[in-house]
Amino acid sequence: MNSQTLLKYDREHLWHPYTSMEDPLPVYPVESTAGVRIRLMDGRELIDGMASWWSAIHGYSHPVLVQALQEQAARMSHVMFGGLTHGPAVELAQLLVELTPAGLEKVFLCDSGSVAVEVAMKMAIQYHYAAGHPRRCRFLTIRSGYHGDTFHAMSVCDPVAGMHQLFAGSLPHSFFADRPECLFPDVWDQRDIESFARLIEQQHEELCAVILEPIVQGAGGMRFYHPEYLRQVRILCDSFDVLLIADEIATGFGRSGLMFACDHAAITPDIMCLGKALTGGMMTLAAVLATTEVGKGISQGSPGVFMHGPTFMANPLACHVACASIRLLLESDWRQKVCQIEQLLEQGLAPCRDLVQVQDVRVLGAIGVVEMKVPVRMKEIQAAFVERGVWVRPFGRLVYVMPPYCISALDLTTLTAAIVDVVAGEGRP
Ligand code: PMP
Repeated sequence: MNSQTLLKYDREHLWHPYTSMEDPLPVYPVESTAGVRIRLMDGRELIDGMASWWSAIHGYSHPVLVQALQEQAARMSHVMFGGLTHGPAVELAQLLVELTPAGLEKVFLCDSGSVAVEVAMKMAIQYHYAAGHPRRCRFLTIRSGYHGDTFHAMSVCDPVAGMHQLFAGSLPHSFFADRPECLFPDVWDQRDIESFARLIEQQHEELCAVILEPIVQGAGGMRFYHPEYLRQVRILCDSFDVLLIADEIATGFGRSGLMFACDHAAITPDIMCLGKALTGGMMTLAAVLATTEVGKGISQGSPGVFMHGPTFMANPLACHVACASIRLLLESDWRQKVCQIEQLLEQGLAPCRDLVQVQDVRVLGAIGVVEMKVPVRMKEIQAAFVERGVWVRPFGRLVYVMPPYCISALDLTTLTAAIVDVVAGEGRP
């Protein structure tokens, strides 16, 4: 199919993320991807700054992952997980239990990040239900968070930036503490935890869990908050017998500079959600890890089983690729790579600080953010990035990148130079 025909059919029939069917923004047809390059159908090659929304940490079409996929497809691409088990699921569970903070021992493998959040929230509800506390079924979270687009996930996304108003009639009601204002590099200010501490104290009899993104608030604002906040959340959850769910879907597997963002605060959550980079961006898969205590609690009381079991649970193809991706990461010098990316992002994006249209520039691990004062003109800015040979997909006031870890210093410099250039042009007629 040539690109004109493809684009015409796409425009008439396909929904893209958060788009209109009547007046969609342009999309760029992709022919193939390799390493850190996205090749468009018109022959242009773009340096990828997005790692397909945090996921492609090794770059695209990595030969080890492609081989893992092909081998597993020939052996067994899928088999139901009810009553059956297989090597790829068990191996993946072993790797995840070893890699994640000590204490997370029970693994649920599901389809996507949002589903993992649903699963984690159901675990928390069932844990308290089984303990004879059916009233403890509500959640406490922090403002500026993002946890996915399914219903319970939406209910704990930021109440203003999220979709609460639109779906108000259908959403469960959650509690929202003020967002952390003390940022990652700041000196800790004890007042920052007051709103959270007050809410958990007032509402704990109704709460089953706190859910938050550790350290990095992603789609809700690309903010990096102070590890002491997370440490104190852990202590408060313990003292009020409220479970802590860490949504590491975006941050897991090294993105923030440590293997998991929870490691910045040296805490173990009761439940942890993983996704995105789990398969190195090859396909969708997510995992929910829980402590033995959570597993035991759910299994001892009524109904005695965890009530979730999707058709493609523990898909062998995805599990085998995930094992290959994790081993690839562990065998690489990812810490040094992420650290080097952090330094180059710092240097490369620094000139944005002098631009009047820029509110803030911040970097943590392999994440770089330029926050603008007003929302960007999406169609124009997207075209400007593509013209400069890079793939950067801003949203709202945020121009941000989280490139594959294998990006070269030269490509990264080209990427940040393009951002400086394009951001400097934003707001000009
Ligand atoms: N939680 C976080 C922190 C995320 O960043 C995302 C995806 N952007 C999700 C949950 C939802 O994941 P998915 O898009 O795979 O459903």
